[in-house]
Amino acid sequence: MGAEVKVSETRDLTRIERIGAHSHIRGLGLDDTLEPRNVSQGMVGQKPARRAVGVICKMIKEGKIAGRGVLLAGQPGTGKTAIAMAMAKSLGEETPFAMMAGSEIFSLEMSKTEALTQAFRKAIGVKIKEETEIIEGEVVEIQIDRPATAGAASKSGKLTLKTTEMETVYDLGSKMIEALTKEKAQSGDVIAIDKASGKITKLGRSFARSRDYDATGAQTRFVQCPDGELQKRKEVVHVVTLHEIDVINSRTQGFLALFAGDTGEIRSEVREQINNKVAEWREEGKAEIVPGVLFIDEVHMLDMECFSFLNRALENEMAPILVVATNRGITKIRGTNYKSPHGIPLDLLDRLLIISTQPYTEDEMRRILDIRGEEEDVEMAEEAKELLTKIGQETSLRYAIHLITAAALACQKRRGKEVSIEDISKVYSLFMDVKRSTQFLMEYQEQFMF
Ligand code: ATP
Repeated sequence: MGAEVKVSETRDLTRIERIGAHSHIRGLGLDDTLEPRNVSQGMVGQKPARRAVGVICKMIKEGKIAGRGVLLAGQPGTGKTAIAMAMAKSLGEETPFAMMAGSEIFSLEMSKTEALTQAFRKAIGVKIKEETEIIEGEVVEIQIDRPATAGAASKSGKLTLKTTEMETVYDLGSKMIEALTKEKAQSGDVIAIDKASGKITKLGRSFARSRDYDATGAQTRFVQCPDGELQKRKEVVHVVTLHEIDVINSRTQGFLALFAGDTGEIRSEVREQINNKVAEWREEGKAEIVPGVLFIDEVHMLDMECFSFLNRALENEMAPILVVATNRGITKIRGTNYKSPHGIPLDLLDRLLIISTQPYTEDEMRRILDIRGEEEDVEMAEEAKELLTKIGQETSLRYAIHLITAAALACQKRRGKEVSIEDISKVYSLFMDVKRSTQFLMEYQEQFMF
């Protein structure tokens, strides 16, 4: 691997996230005073929690949350994952979001700390700046050093010009000199020259360096090529996660491992090398760290070893914002006989800002189901929506959301235009919710194996 740490191929991979369940969440839906709007950016209700998370986001933006995390405590399906995701979105489009369930770390393929390290590195973005040459529609900005008169030019045929980056002698050609003369360009004036058309625009006495000639919004600068030509460069920015850089540099199959999810353990030397390289890039101004959000659901599934890892990891200056969630009350810490609130040791709890989520009202649930219907492009009859909301209240929000997709298929099959009450009833009888499934198990338990 050596000096060139590879990053290029991953540009689009950070965009691959689990769409599906939370694709309708686009932010926390807060107004300018950080008050949650009733329904906004895909978020419905859960106002106290959204308000609290809004305050935390503000603290994060002001750099005031180092060494701390957030605990979302609430029943299943009360939007804990949705809120964590909204938090990442509201911190900026580039903010990485990584999620895992506490139980996922008990895998045979890697150690618990390796699984956690990978999760942390998936939630740390590296914003890498690169320069590329702009060729089409190239406009150069130059400052005239000597009066641009035909006379001055005719002596040498060249003019001394200054760009933001350097001083150079630049041959403008007689047509341009004519144009400059016509513009009455004086020494010290800055002009923009469109190299394709030769069009000259006077800009005044200073450079408009960040002027957006190519509509990309990228910062531009000029460099001198070996042949003396002036070239305009633009800065392109990609964001990749530390984990993506790790994987690409640690495996022979490179970035394909990212698709397969088959990353295995990553050697600590690889990570060390990458950390050093990234530190170097940061020093040279080529890269910036973008701390993301790491969401760990079912945090009560972690054990002491994992909790001490989290305690330590929170101290790291590059640490992402850790958001953990649980639906447990006072319970045993895994692998011990000690009871603790949420099954989390007190020293870690002490570092967490605790926010609770509440069950949804009927109206809120209906709004969420409406949004999901729109998101999945499913037209539903009013009565169908009503029935679905009732089902959601009786079973769970998540179950009702699943029924939308299934009911849309049933509707498609009968060539209907919108999901009807019958479609909903049909899929309700096809797929059991947890309550009915449990009921079934209890009724027929002697027929199952133990
Ligand atoms: P669990 O504890 O089981 O992990 P959870 O509390 O994380 O559940 P989510 O998975 O966030 O619950 O919510 C279930 C579904 O409802 C998801 O599709 C989520 O996007 C959606 N949802 C939950 N709350 C809201 C909300 N306030 N606004 C919009 N959508 C929501």
